[in-house]
Amino acid sequence: MSGAEDGALVLFSGGQDSATCLAWALARFGRVETVGFDYGQRHRIELACRAGLRDGMAALRPDWAGRLGADHVLDAGVLRGLSGSALVSAAEITAPEGQLPSTFVPGRNLLFGTLAAAVAYGRGLRHLVLGVCETDYSGYPDCRDDTMKALQVALNLGMDARFVLHTPLMFVDKAGTWAMAAALGGAALVELIRVESHSCYEGDRTVLREFGYGCGSCPACELRARGFAAYRRLAAA
Ligand code: ZN
Repeated sequence: MSGAEDGALVLFSGGQDSATCLAWALARFGRVETVGFDYGQRHRIELACRAGLRDGMAALRPDWAGRLGADHVLDAGVLRGLSGSALVSAAEITAPEGQLPSTFVPGRNLLFGTLAAAVAYGRGLRHLVLGVCETDYSGYPDCRDDTMKALQVALNLGMDARFVLHTPLMFVDKAGTWAMAAALGGAALVELIRVESHSCYEGDRTVLREFGYGCGSCPACELRARGFAAYRRLAAA
């Protein structure tokens, strides 16, 4: 693909999912830019991982290096004062049965999708790539397929545009996300994402575990550890 019609903007947090989405986009689109949001995450470590992942992917493949364009970081700090979410405060991380986890930030992905579309509009990028997933994450309603489809319609009506929202991980579990990275960039991409991406809610990067850096016991680490172990079992079979 080539031309302005084939430019993509990846919502890139620095976590495993969005890192895999960046590789997915680099394999498909002629020009790929990234956008991240600073909203007072529990730790800014995830945002700090972004440069290492971008540089690492560019180093992995010359064709990807040629496609990788600008990085944008937007201040979405307004979210901090609007919710009591544990992701934007010191509140305890809990996941009560039958309720949304305390890490849910109301409206976050709707806001991020809208801000990303505004960036893409200005940059002439038609495709938006989001690492949302409804299979094995925390049941966040703004990660669901219907939400993303409705958002695409709302953005296109509201901006008189023809954006296409891509969610390559929507029905993929965490083991499948690692397998997707392996298919896109081989063992070198898996290792880059394992070491350079960040998922841990506690922001712990002191110990490199089998699944990457993290405290090993928060819900994000547990999910990532389970997914990586399942991927390893599948890869070895
Ligand atoms: Zn952790």
